[in-house]
Amino acid sequence: MITSVRNEVEPVASKVKIYARPEHNISRAQISENALKVLYKLQKEGFDAYLVGGCVRDLLLGREPKDFDVVTNADPEQIRKVFRNCRLIGRRFRLAHVHFGREVIEVATFRGAGEEQNDKQVLNKEGRLLRDNVYGTIEEDVWRRDFTVNALYYNIKDFSVVDYVDGMADHKASTLRLIGDPLTRFREDPVRMLRAVRFAVKLGFKLHPECEKAMHQAAELLSSIPSARLYDEALKLFLSGYALQTFEMLRHYGLFQVLFPATENSLSIEDNGFPRLLLIKALENSDNRMAEGKTVTAYFLLAAFLWEPVQMRAKEKMAQGMVEFMAYQEAANEIIGRQIKSTALPRHITMAMREVWSLQPKFNARFGSKPSRLISHPRFRAGYDFLVLRAQTGGADPTLAAWWGKYQEADENEQRKMTQPPRKPQNGKPARKRNFRGNSKGGSPGKEA
Ligand code: ATP
Ligand code: MG
Repeated sequence: MITSVRNEVEPVASKVKIYARPEHNISRAQISENALKVLYKLQKEGFDAYLVGGCVRDLLLGREPKDFDVVTNADPEQIRKVFRNCRLIGRRFRLAHVHFGREVIEVATFRGAGEEQNDKQVLNKEGRLLRDNVYGTIEEDVWRRDFTVNALYYNIKDFSVVDYVDGMADHKASTLRLIGDPLTRFREDPVRMLRAVRFAVKLGFKLHPECEKAMHQAAELLSSIPSARLYDEALKLFLSGYALQTFEMLRHYGLFQVLFPATENSLSIEDNGFPRLLLIKALENSDNRMAEGKTVTAYFLLAAFLWEPVQMRAKEKMAQGMVEFMAYQEAANEIIGRQIKSTALPRHITMAMREVWSLQPKFNARFGSKPSRLISHPRFRAGYDFLVLRAQTGGADPTLAAWWGKYQEADENEQRKMTQPPRKPQNGKPARKRNFRGNSKGGSPGKEA
């Protein structure tokens, strides 16, 4: 007996809308030459070939796409035969990467409907897989996509845009609407909630009310996603150039607390009546840097995310009698240890975060040979930027940050002068030795006068 566990595929062909070339604004001049080569080559070999996903969505907005994804009815082996510069990746669902120097065009075969839910699989009576239609048709492929605006296909055959889900109308209305029932789609893959936030912020689109409602209901499900995937998504979210807005929106939907629980907790506790501003400022700075075309590093931002939790924990430890250095060390271990349960953090990232943190107390040493040693530390610049951030938000002395700013600019001679302990004329007596904070160790100078 053959049992089909396949759901009915929605009869969508009748609903398809085709926007001919004059009815949309995508011109080939905006499309990467390599992507065009791939599309034309597939077509020449007798296959259907489309651009799909984010690139079509972005092209319709007149924006330069991050990358170009191609879909076709050619199966991976057929794709491989068409392109010499091609590698197949993935196991069950194989994708082709066509390489052109540094640019890679991803070519996927249409996916079968509900491939993940196994509803397209045909089992025998022992439950063994007889047929597993991983690959499908364009009509099936469309239902596997998340938002309607991500499910528009640009057909190389006639330069039309093919739309099965009213994505074009949503695109015009700047709306993110999930294909199908929103709650079901979020349950299938809770990462779609993060994608919703990312696209809403990046494109300036609003979430469809049904999508919003489902998000409030499904936010908690995000915690079931493997931490490595959440780390990747967190990077995309916060290195987008719109980190501050993203942060606010994630908090609004209760998603931020799943990604960074300790940070969320620290934000709700005010510090002597002041909200904690360091993270906000860090996000703002990073957006400004991106806008200026400067680089933003993940570890710096993550160090800012976890700085308050580390401080809070360290203070608890110090209150129990632990010395400052140890307290910070242990607090950093604990906070990182807890964070990696939510978002994995690669070792090189946690090492860099720790370095940025551990440099902070070292900036207090302004005299003697310590400053010149500190400045040659490989993480000096990041550490200094972090100090500035703290100074801007009430967590460090602004004159200290200014001193380090000046010290970096100074020539050797000036630097030597700057690091000399200040001497007071003391009737021939040598100046008192100063500790690393620059405070006099002895009694008050007033007494000596
Ligand atoms: P961008 O590349 O600009 O970040 P994108 O929409 O191209 O955005 P990708 O992650 O490159 O995003 O995915 C390409 C396409 O694959 C999407 O547009 C969407 O159609 C589909 N897709 C990606 N991830 C998912 C998902 N989790 N659920 C459903 N469809 C997805
Ligand atoms: Mg993409």
